[in-house]
Amino acid sequence: MPWDVVIVGAGAAGLLAAIRAAERGRRTLVCEKNQRPGTKILMSGGTRCNLSHATDSAGIVRAFGRQGRFLHSALASLSPEQTVQLFHAEGLRTKVEETGKIFPASDRAADVLAALMRRLNRSGAELAFGDSVREITGVSGSMRVTTNNRTLTAESVIVTTGGRSYPGCGTTGDGYAWAARFGHEIIAPRPALTPIVCDARWIKELSGVTISDVATRVVAAGRIYEAGQAGTSRRRAQKALAEARGSLLFAHFGLTGPAALDVSRAVSGASEAVCVLCDFLPDESPENLLQRLDQQCSREGGRLIGGLFSELLPRRLLHSLLGVLEIPVDRRAAEVRRADRVRIVEQIKGCPIAAQGVMGFRKAEVTAGGVDLRQVDSSTMQSKVAPGLFFAGEVLDLDGPIGGFNFQAAFSTGWLAGSHA
Ligand SMILES: Cc1cc2nc3c(=O)[nH]c(=O)nc-3n(C[C@H](O)[C@H](O)[C@H](O)COP(=O)(O)OP(=O)(O)OC[C@H]3O[C@@H](n4cnc5c(N)ncnc54)[C@H](O)[C@@H]3O)c2cc1C
Repeated sequence: MPWDVVIVGAGAAGLLAAIRAAERGRRTLVCEKNQRPGTKILMSGGTRCNLSHATDSAGIVRAFGRQGRFLHSALASLSPEQTVQLFHAEGLRTKVEETGKIFPASDRAADVLAALMRRLNRSGAELAFGDSVREITGVSGSMRVTTNNRTLTAESVIVTTGGRSYPGCGTTGDGYAWAARFGHEIIAPRPALTPIVCDARWIKELSGVTISDVATRVVAAGRIYEAGQAGTSRRRAQKALAEARGSLLFAHFGLTGPAALDVSRAVSGASEAVCVLCDFLPDESPENLLQRLDQQCSREGGRLIGGLFSELLPRRLLHSLLGVLEIPVDRRAAEVRRADRVRIVEQIKGCPIAAQGVMGFRKAEVTAGGVDLRQVDSSTMQSKVAPGLFFAGEVLDLDGPIGGFNFQAAFSTGWLAGSHA
């Protein structure tokens, strides 16, 4: 007997789509290539699962930038508040951390998945594991889904195969090829929320150092400096390709932590060499900082320059920044020329770190790019070029920042697709 709805992929989007479709009385089957559902839910948020963000629908839309508009209807069908209520109704208590991230109170991602599975099991949707979909063909009302061991027919098919990140989880980008064969444009998938690779020796030497609050901006490397007077160069203010603020961790390969991950999509998508400009004291204005340095240099001129600002910056970082400027850390503060003090402040407020690239899909929390949003009806999640075919979750050209935004988008788009398939 044909299915009403076949859903491909039992991740966040697929599970919500299945719950919704089955609760509407649709005969629903989910095909999952793995032997269990929700692999990424289990590994997410360091196995704690940051399932959403403490904001309203408008806050989620804003966080997705230019793609955010696409989410209006999905969030109207399942808002962040309704998502949390859905989990509460399944007995999962949640907590909001200082950053606005929502986690299960137990800190166990397994509890999030268990809550979804309880609701799914009641909904009557069926799950088939080890059922890897190879091909989708057909027209609305008569879609054919070929798996590794059978051919299914369905009125509607919802593709929730995720992106290409962490391919070991089963997410190998299978949905893109099917969508393309139906006539969909695919925006070239690229890694996002992934560590940034930097070659500079001083970065590697700082491996293990975390700075809790850094403002990062990705800018074109060739345009950081402009000619100043008498052959000098000064930094040019320029438009950022991406900006973020949060903690930054130096690693042997480069930069990681939220302030690096959140701007990584601009590095992986850049067509020219780019730098990450790091402001290590985002709450201090350059003028104040320079004034402070001037005062310290005149009042405590006998101190070593490498010992100043210890209340503001980790010593190891300051020494590295001075090293890049070739200012000896053991120079007496009084002997540091004014021009060098200006350079020190510039370095603290906008240190350019050349980015060689990103760590790639293997280490990317999400995939930027995917099924072009312009060919998907955002009020239903149905394809505009192939009626009967629906998309939800990360397979779409949707990627948000760290903070629970990506799960919220997957849950809401899955719910909306399940409401119409
Ligand atoms: C390490 C890590 C940590 C993360 N932490 C967070 C976090 O804390 N908060 C947050 O919001 N986001 C987080 N994310 C991102 C989040 O996991 C994804 O955005 C989200 O899972 C996307 O949901 P989805 O349902 O679209 O795809 P997925 O969850 O990736 O699910 C896709 C499913 O489709 C299946 N599939 C693929 N191809 C086929 C096929 N041919 N046949 C059958 N099945 C198939 C896959 O096996 C998979 O189960 C994290 C991601 C990673 C990798």
